[in-house]
Amino acid sequence: MAQQFASDNYAGICPEVWAAMQDANQGSVPAYGEDPWTTRAAEAFRRLFETDCEVFFAFNGTAANSLALAALCQSYNSVICSSFAHVETDECGAPEFFSNGSKLLVARTDNAKLTPADIRALATCRADIHYPKPRAVTITQPTETGEVYSLDEIREISAICRQLGLRLHMDGARFANACAALGCTPAEMTWQAGVDVLCFGGTKNGMAVGEAILFFDRTLAEGFDYRCKQAGQLASKMRFLAAPWIGLLETGAWLRNGAHANACAARLAAEVAGLPDIELMFPAEANAVFLRAPEPVLIALRDRGWRFYTFIGGGARFMFAWDADPARVDALAADIAACTA
Ligand SMILES: *Cc1c(COP(=O)(O)O)cnc(C)c1O
Repeated sequence: MAQQFASDNYAGICPEVWAAMQDANQGSVPAYGEDPWTTRAAEAFRRLFETDCEVFFAFNGTAANSLALAALCQSYNSVICSSFAHVETDECGAPEFFSNGSKLLVARTDNAKLTPADIRALATCRADIHYPKPRAVTITQPTETGEVYSLDEIREISAICRQLGLRLHMDGARFANACAALGCTPAEMTWQAGVDVLCFGGTKNGMAVGEAILFFDRTLAEGFDYRCKQAGQLASKMRFLAAPWIGLLETGAWLRNGAHANACAARLAAEVAGLPDIELMFPAEANAVFLRAPEPVLIALRDRGWRFYTFIGGGARFMFAWDADPARVDALAADIAACTA
């Protein structure tokens, strides 16, 4: 199949990850994370984030997000998120399930960004015993609509969280893309800006499977190993969930992959700018491009073989991964131009 941009999960495994998997595939080592690869991967995270954080590995983002939020909440608590948030729209109720009922409080936002005002409104509208007590806020960086919170925006959000006694979780399924977009360090975007827990996405960054959960406040990680095990997220052959991170982090591939994907999104956005009937729905700040187009144009694009989702606002979503081929991006742009002509 010619390359498609319907999802960044259409991509395969990047060479650095493949090589690290192969390195780890030698001999026998202890199971369940008691192996040198897992130690080395956790150390690589601590070095990258310049702090002594607690690091856990899970198979996917739904589990990572759900378990991280569950760790922040009692069952009677609630979690504030945007109406676009993956935890709300794409995790099949897993955050509520794994927290034994902590409710998501959804802010109806125009794009996928939460503002301090949204958080304050939801956290303070009720303070009585009948309302699930707000305990955490989750933001997605970059957002589900391909936008990036600036460091100032994150700091403003964490300030209001501290004021209101809320913990701050970051869904970083595309964390590398956000770092590449802002040109800041992982530390600056997380604990230095007041983020308590980060889910760092490996799958969309070039791994086969895997997300890391980083607790910058170690007290929040108490019992998290049991939570992972109970949820079926403790890999017995943990070295193969850990080694890919060594491939991404120690070689710098995590950031190169993110930057390349972002550049391809910017390339498409630039190529279709000014075309009649085509409108960019959200600023293309990371690796996503959302295009609003008349239905006949979308149908014509599909007829030319292009795959894309329209689940956000009816526009066509194009996502770019580490392996996006600029020539294919140009081919897509040319077909969009042809369909609007
Ligand atoms: C892809 C994604 C996840 C993780 O999804 P899984 O399919 O559970 O791995 C989480 N959050 C966001 C914003 C995502 O795009």
